Amino acid sequence: MSSANDLSYVHPSPTSPWGTYLSQVDRVRPYLGKLDRWVETLKRPKRALIVDVPIELDDGSIAHFEGYRVQHNLSRGPGKGGVRFHPDVTLEEVMALSAWMTVKCAAVNLPYGGAKGGIRVDPKKLSITELEKVTRRYTSEIGLIIGPHADIPAPDVNTNGQIMAWMMDTYSMNTGATATGVVTGKPIHLGGSLGRVKATGRGVFVTGQEAARRIGLKLEGARVAVQGFGNVGSVAAELFAKAGAKVVAVQDHTGTLVNDRGFDVAQLSEFSRTNGGIAGFKEGAMVSDDAFWDVPCDVLVPAALEGQLTAERARRVTARLVLEGANGPTVPEADDILAERGVLVVPDVICNAGGVTVSYFEWVQDFSSFFWTEDEINQRLDRIMVGAFENIWEKSARHAISLRTATFAVACERILIAREERGLYP
Ligand code: NAD
Repeated sequence: MSSANDLSYVHPSPTSPWGTYLSQVDRVRPYLGKLDRWVETLKRPKRALIVDVPIELDDGSIAHFEGYRVQHNLSRGPGKGGVRFHPDVTLEEVMALSAWMTVKCAAVNLPYGGAKGGIRVDPKKLSITELEKVTRRYTSEIGLIIGPHADIPAPDVNTNGQIMAWMMDTYSMNTGATATGVVTGKPIHLGGSLGRVKATGRGVFVTGQEAARRIGLKLEGARVAVQGFGNVGSVAAELFAKAGAKVVAVQDHTGTLVNDRGFDVAQLSEFSRTNGGIAGFKEGAMVSDDAFWDVPCDVLVPAALEGQLTAERARRVTARLVLEGANGPTVPEADDILAERGVLVVPDVICNAGGVTVSYFEWVQDFSSFFWTEDEINQRLDRIMVGAFENIWEKSARHAISLRTATFAVACERILIAREERGLYP
């Protein structure tokens, strides 16, 4: 029985985030064996909370924002997943992002389920006071279902350490005790972990390195194009540049820049931080956003938002290797086109798992109140990412399936075994 569209509260299309996720689950079903009996578990979130977030704006008026927290699956442990502040956030998007967290945590074998949150708001239009109010009221509203042993939020698009600090403080005030383990991605002196800020970009680079080696692509001198120059994209770009690659194209919400000689990534990052985007950086030429997809490159890193690699763009990709820094950047039809064209895609559910892995380290450190050095963090991170990649590569080779389906196969098996072993209550 397929339940692709029988949830009354969402109406996915084949290319929308939840539609994309459902089709990825369908593709893994032939590899689930007897566990297929439990597959419906993956196709419906355990719990979805919609909250109203009212605040008083600086001008004295009242504004209402819609907030969400979705716990997709908690079979393997507490929910884990970021919080996104973006004007386009919808329940359907948060559902898909929460489901990808379930798969991701299982793919790297972290003892977590999957969750995600978001507020439909453009944080760039809020003052710092308004941003703090939105964050605190949202945290208070979702306080019903989050907690250090229940569901642990983290940063995602447009959220950062400061927002995590406000979330931690609000939750702690409401429960009457400082609970550092309720969120990860916190500032260092509030129980944050060294290495967390760069962890996702680092994981993209480490899995990229593993994949490149296996297809005989030398990173030294390789041409890299990066879409999204935030936390994930800028760090991945910096590490590729350090490894001798040339970052020749960068796109963010302010525009697209190309530089055939390769950008000085540290300088571009500094510029983007100070100016709120890459537009205006002098060491490169601005081109149209659409031209980004035609820039000749060896490695393409989509690190912005979902659904960016459409079928039409997949036909134009020049890279041999696509590293999904973003969640859900490739629609299923584009996946097939890239495979036919011999382009290797390292899927989000393993490629960008570095962030949640160091979030896990942060959570563990918070409970023991004993903190590791950055070297220890990076070594442990690299070991987990390389080990998980090897396992998935081997599964993909054995069954002649894409890395995405192989990652889903490894992860869904772990999730559904846990589901089966726990049994249905009552
Ligand atoms: P961020 O807010 O730091 O950066 C987002 C970047 O995307 C910015 O450079 C922004 O300008 C750019 N962008 C936004 N809209 C765009 C558009 N239409 N076209 C081109 N660029 C656009 O966010 P982030 O934390 O770097 O997250 C980026 C992606 O990585 C998201 O899909 C997120 O879910 C995923 N991710 C993030 C983490 C993490 O630890 N931060 C972990 C795993 C996955």
